Amino acid sequence: MLTDPRLATRTRHMQSNAIREILKVVSKPGMISLAGGIPAPESFPTERMDEIFGTVMAKYGAQALQYDATEGFEPLRVALSDYLAQQSVQASAEEILIFSGSQSVLDTVAKMVISPGDIIVTEEPTYLGALSAFAPYEPRYRTVSTDEEGMIPEALEEVLKTEAVKLIYLTPTFQNPTGYTLSLARRRAIGQLLQTYNCLLLEDDPYSALRYRGHALPPVWSFAPEQVIYSSTLSKVFAPGLRIGFCVAPEWLRPWLVVAKQGVDLHTSTLNQALAVEYLTGGHLPEQLATIIELYRPRQEALLQALTQHFPQDFIWSRPEGGMFVWVIGPEGLDAEAVYWSSVEKGTAFVPGKYFFAQPETGLSTMRLNFTMVDESTLDHAVQVIAEAIQEATAETA
Ligand code: PMP
Repeated sequence: MLTDPRLATRTRHMQSNAIREILKVVSKPGMISLAGGIPAPESFPTERMDEIFGTVMAKYGAQALQYDATEGFEPLRVALSDYLAQQSVQASAEEILIFSGSQSVLDTVAKMVISPGDIIVTEEPTYLGALSAFAPYEPRYRTVSTDEEGMIPEALEEVLKTEAVKLIYLTPTFQNPTGYTLSLARRRAIGQLLQTYNCLLLEDDPYSALRYRGHALPPVWSFAPEQVIYSSTLSKVFAPGLRIGFCVAPEWLRPWLVVAKQGVDLHTSTLNQALAVEYLTGGHLPEQLATIIELYRPRQEALLQALTQHFPQDFIWSRPEGGMFVWVIGPEGLDAEAVYWSSVEKGTAFVPGKYFFAQPETGLSTMRLNFTMVDESTLDHAVQVIAEAIQEATAETA
């Protein structure tokens, strides 16, 4: 493919995120959206913010408005060390680096470890934003089969045996787009494989705190900390607009991530980091997280119930214990994009699942449904609309 000579050659691998295009129709007035992947505005601690701001200014004053260390605002690194210990990630403050959203961790890691042609292993399907972050570094991809229990370790080993894999990218808990969670046995097995093949894993964990049922699982990081970059975010448990992401990386890589960040933005917003410290240490997180979970749990139940009630028998879907998405797989031959357009005409949007597959012409019958943005009765109505659109699409192809 030729590139515009005014642009760098790496742009030939870059394209605008297909979902952003799809989401343009969502902003039409009256459209019900199961398409986005964003938190409900009512999940934000809006009413607590005056108090949080006040405490930040009283505690830090001008320091919160000043330039700060690239590694991150020290009090936040300390607070995150405590927070992460509760998720089985035992990391000291020095081992934690703060980034502008976990999206920026994905970019920075790829920038520092991927040369053109290097192999990245991903789940199939995977988070589209990760593919966008990796694209400028010109990787090649190998996809590994995934089922309801996440990536299949035997399939991963087949790739590790035959190829020089530079990086594995996984979202082990409540994956975007499928909602699947890697089982404990597979976490252990993949940790073992990382050690055996001395391979680096980027463990992207934005959703594990949004758990509505069942028990928390330890991250893959806990089985192979020398081989894993553990990345997470406050976007889903505080506010995405603050852009607070963070990672725990092996010692050899950490200084390189700092060097990369120095060149990009010097550091993440000091004020936002200070707000995050107060949110984590001022007792706000546990209360707010309980509110968020109480908001999302019934929405997810309503979506699952509506699918059982309205969707045809030959469709299957994931039943995640948390997160923001349900993944629907239609019968072979279903064109989920045709369903999408017909559903949008009727006022309901979702994302056709094919956009999450690296290989073209795969996942054509799949859909990603988000349940965080609309209330229970609207979800039921939206699922009825999509079911009608399915009927029309299948009648046309019959
Ligand atoms: N990883 C995954 C799997 C995501 O779904 C998202 C956001 N939707 C991100 C990373 C980025 O989140 P943020 O930059 O807000 O931390």
